[in-house]
Amino acid sequence: APLLTGTGITKDYGATPALRGVDLSVAEGEIVAVTGPSGCGKSTLLHCLAGILRADHGSVVFRDQNIGMWSEAARSRLRRSEFGVLFQFGQMVPELTAAENVALPLLLAGSGRREAREAALAWLDRFGVADVADQMPGAMSGGQQQRCAVARAMVTRPRVLFADEPTGALDQLNGEQVMQAIVRAVREEGTAVVLVTHEAPVAAYADREIVLRDGAVDPTGLGVGAP
Ligand code: ADP
Ligand code: ADP
Repeated sequence: APLLTGTGITKDYGATPALRGVDLSVAEGEIVAVTGPSGCGKSTLLHCLAGILRADHGSVVFRDQNIGMWSEAARSRLRRSEFGVLFQFGQMVPELTAAENVALPLLLAGSGRREAREAALAWLDRFGVADVADQMPGAMSGGQQQRCAVARAMVTRPRVLFADEPTGALDQLNGEQVMQAIVRAVREEGTAVVLVTHEAPVAAYADREIVLRDGAVDPTGLGVGAP
């Protein structure tokens, strides 16, 4: 059975229909790209699958549990334990060092300070940014900040990583390096990934691509990389 399955997901923002019955499933360890033009509903789909937004209709099933029906508090706990969330940019807490930022999800989950710091340092090292561990985000480059954000999303060893345009704020070289770091880590950890992007080179890292147009899955499946 798939790890995560969205079925018939519908979502409106007031009068604006954002999703009109979308089906998507992700297997254990699989990287699925969600692509399509700006405004087609990619972010909304990611937010519904991650339990950040509640769909108007349809179901989101994670390990045989319909999490779409869960309370906000229960979905928040699930995100902290089983899901990792990564956005385009600017998620680092500016008042905390890189290591403190990465340790934060572990502290929230009840880890001790020393254990959380050691795990944070190990993850920063894995993403090649151990040298900025004690720097504040404001003193770091965009690429370094995003590597730290990936480390923070992975430090709890989530089963699913939700990444919304994770390289969208980076130049091509930094974007490629961050994508390679993400893919290496999720392959090692067996993490499933829902990867929202409008860029063909980013979608090319996925095992499978789902194309959205106007809030529905494009049945032709011709993605952003199609000629
Ligand atoms: P994408 O990620 O593909 O750019 P979104 O999921 O962000 O698409 O948006 C889908 C549609 O929903 C767009 O028409 C967008 O303008 C609209 N939308 C997204 N978020 C909101 C919001 N918070 N309030 C109102 N409309 C929104
Ligand atoms: P907290 O309980 O500390 O607010 P959550 O568990 O609710 O954290 O959120 C998990 C992740 O989802 C965080 O990275 C947070 O930034 C993100 N998130 C939560 N709500 C939203 C939202 N409405 N829009 C975008 N991201 C969100």
